[in-house]
Amino acid sequence: MNIDLKNLTIEKAHDSLKAGEYTVLDLANAYLKVIKEKNSELNVYLEVYVDVMAQAERAQAMFTDGSATLMTGIPVALKDNMLFEGHVASASSKILENYKATYDAGVVAQLKSQGAVFLGRTNMDEFAMGSSTESSAYGITRNPINPDYVPGGSSGGSAAAVAMNGALVSLGSDTGGSIREPASFCGIVGLKTTYGTVSRSGIISMGSSLDQVGPMTKTVADAEILFNVINAYDAMDSTSVPTGKRVSTTTTLKKRIGVPRAFVSTEGVNQEVLKNFEESCEKLKNAGYEIVDVSLSLLKYSLPAYYIIMPAEVSSNLARYDGIRYGLSSEGDKLFDVYAKTRGAGFGKEVRRRILLGAYVLSHGYYDAYYNKAVKVRDAIRNELQEVFKEVDAIITPTVPTLPWKFGEMSKDPVSMYLADIYTVGANIAGVPAISVPSGFSESGLPIGLQITAPHFAENTLFTIGKDFEKLV
Ligand code: GLN
Repeated sequence: MNIDLKNLTIEKAHDSLKAGEYTVLDLANAYLKVIKEKNSELNVYLEVYVDVMAQAERAQAMFTDGSATLMTGIPVALKDNMLFEGHVASASSKILENYKATYDAGVVAQLKSQGAVFLGRTNMDEFAMGSSTESSAYGITRNPINPDYVPGGSSGGSAAAVAMNGALVSLGSDTGGSIREPASFCGIVGLKTTYGTVSRSGIISMGSSLDQVGPMTKTVADAEILFNVINAYDAMDSTSVPTGKRVSTTTTLKKRIGVPRAFVSTEGVNQEVLKNFEESCEKLKNAGYEIVDVSLSLLKYSLPAYYIIMPAEVSSNLARYDGIRYGLSSEGDKLFDVYAKTRGAGFGKEVRRRILLGAYVLSHGYYDAYYNKAVKVRDAIRNELQEVFKEVDAIITPTVPTLPWKFGEMSKDPVSMYLADIYTVGANIAGVPAISVPSGFSESGLPIGLQITAPHFAENTLFTIGKDFEKLV
């Protein structure tokens, strides 16, 4: 059975499955074959689930009994921080190496009920901390577009899975850019959803006020289909917004898009990225959008605010890995020794760095100077954005200020890697949705992405503009 995986979309696969051109098992097998061919070189999947065929059979039965939906039988890759009952979820950390999920994450349960087929779990930066997937405890993942380069991170495995045709779609999580940045580096679409729209239940937490799950796909239409399934209230997530309150202020599109000029051309931005961005602006103009300059003078403070708030939440969230309740447990004479030895052996360098930073900014005497100030900055950024959204439907910037880099190029200096998040963290700080759509290639053939940001709950705006843009690239 020869299925053209490169050009396959959810709708095409659904039509073929419905027409009986191939079965869910054929489709799953086609992806498993690609994984078998490519995974040893690229290290995209940490595990291919043993029950893929059993899942495929259940999905095929839904076609027979007429209960199939668009997602039935669609092969999905899961980031390694999403719980799938009975399967390992390690967050790419040694501390959770053998941890088996005892329940399904909200998103997993929603997709399961529709008969999606989970192929396996993908590599990521340890506990989602990083922008290159180099901080995984289980080796690097290579970029399928050019294996000498990083795939981005932290959802690098989920991006690479789609880019190498090793899954039709995947799920990633985004705390400061971890869906959009790897999507941009691997030449695919990545959507960070409005905070509160997609369940965080059963997602291994990083920064709870910032984390969101979202789709990683080849097309904007696929991102929309997947989003429509996971955009659901979940009582198991205390920050899940009730359906009736998911109201966007955007009613009709003004067809006006804002460019925060000064912010876009901040120091150190790659010239090819800037040139590509200007070309994207032209393309959108040709598609009938008015492109206007907007002033967002506070947006540049998103990055410093993020690197205070995120480690503070990391240090509290990761306190639960103490050698008593979950995963790895080292022997020790006293309780404190058990904690120290377990955490010393189980956490990698980047994770320890952030726990230390977080404990510091939350400590007595520094709490007001750092954490409280960052929270105030966060409010100010959100308010400024909301004001600008009265004038424009969306804001555009490049997704990442650099091209994908080679392995090791950034890891010696953590701050240079943190700077790669400059354009993406704003959406997490403000809680608004943002999408990265492929916008072309550098001269050396590396993918570049355009980021579109919309007001709270205005994912539809992103889909409309994203689809218009996609046609022009
Ligand atoms: N690169 C960012 C960081 O290292 C974002 C991570 C994420 O979104 N999970 O914090």
